[in-house]
Amino acid sequence: MRLNAAFALLALAGTSPLIAGDATPSTASVATATQLRDQALVSNRAYELTASLTTDVGQRMAGSEADRRAVQWAKAKFEALGYDRVILQPVSYPRWVRRHESVAITAPYNMPMQLTALGRSHGTDGDLNAEVVRFEDIEALKAAADGSLAGKIAFIDKRMPRSQSGHGYGETVAGRSTGAAVAASKGAAALLIRSIGTDNNRLAHTGGMWQRPETPTVPAAALSIPDADQLARLLAKGPVSVRLNLDVGFDGEFESANVIGEITGREKPDEYVVIGGHLDSWDLGTGAIDDASGIGITMAAGALMAALPERPRRSIRVVAFANEEQGVYGGRAFAEANDAGKAIIGAESDLGADRIYALRSSMGDQPDATIKAMADLMAPLGIPYDDSEGHAGADISGLVNRGMPFVALEQDATRYFDYHHTANDTLDKVDAEALDQQVAAYAIFAWLAADGDSDFGRSRAAAATGKQP
Ligand SMILES: [Zn+2]
Repeated sequence: MRLNAAFALLALAGTSPLIAGDATPSTASVATATQLRDQALVSNRAYELTASLTTDVGQRMAGSEADRRAVQWAKAKFEALGYDRVILQPVSYPRWVRRHESVAITAPYNMPMQLTALGRSHGTDGDLNAEVVRFEDIEALKAAADGSLAGKIAFIDKRMPRSQSGHGYGETVAGRSTGAAVAASKGAAALLIRSIGTDNNRLAHTGGMWQRPETPTVPAAALSIPDADQLARLLAKGPVSVRLNLDVGFDGEFESANVIGEITGREKPDEYVVIGGHLDSWDLGTGAIDDASGIGITMAAGALMAALPERPRRSIRVVAFANEEQGVYGGRAFAEANDAGKAIIGAESDLGADRIYALRSSMGDQPDATIKAMADLMAPLGIPYDDSEGHAGADISGLVNRGMPFVALEQDATRYFDYHHTANDTLDKVDAEALDQQVAAYAIFAWLAADGDSDFGRSRAAAATGKQP
């Protein structure tokens, strides 16, 4: 219906530049996408890949020896799965290491607490004994007078709410990502945060700090949620002191790689659809839901297409991104090294292992015929089109910032933040059937996007602004 309306408008205007950009997928293309979907639902391959990455490689913290083994694992898997080309794109970053971490309450009584250092934190240079000052959230810490925290430890006590979309993460993560820089500006000796998570286990949630290297910070760590509760209750009654010891820090430069498996297009091989996840993980668990499952899902989707007798018209690049956790190094390097103008559309799997519940796109409430065809094929998977725009993932955001359209295959994040960045991120949290549903969705998306003509709104946007697409 929308296409007919567009034709009518264009006929009136006497121009036709938008037709190609909104092209309807061919019957053959839809038939192939349907076949891929049905194969995905009985495949189990994403689970096998996730199990292999978390078992054969284990934790894969960026800069560790396991980082190199993960790159070789991804290369070998892409080759074994029949991808047309496997490319290693070098990516460099500072190596950060975690050697020892501990904290204990020392007054009004002695009690050990559970914590984990935040990625890219400095160490404490031995024991740091100091009084703790509580802040409701990072805004309250920002409002403290400069120098008012001299010799003290700032404690950001903001609780993350649970939700299907995981939006609570965005509301609380600033305390982790920038809190140490704010604490330093107030003269504090260190920062503690309530873990950004939704569980009640005595397992702390790590995660990266996002400040620039030249920005002054203080040593920073996250307390497990029950320990943050205990500390907050004690602080409500009077002064509390702790002994903090973090032996962590930077240790030289490290070279890793984005591992790219390509299904090479039969007509326009330079144009590509990008899907993927990140190959690195934190070091506390095995990174099963963050993000071995995203690697397994997208690698398995590409493998279904690698097994077809014919290639799609444009290429599909499945990317195992390097070091997302400590600064999106792989995503940024990919966007710089690959022509974003040839990146037709992208989607990234990095919000756990649970089912997709909605399809969103950068076309928002004006999806074109190809997005609608994707939604039609995804409907039996329980994935309706939602015309709110959604968000692109971190690793494809560099391409999106350069104009690439995107799709968001929204995963149910209700329980994701119970395990995210903790020692509890292990394979037992992953359900094979939920992965198959996601493989089906990624296969439908990647095939219809690569085999068709749509530019997913680029020429519409260009027509609206008067610029070349
Ligand atoms: Zn992740």
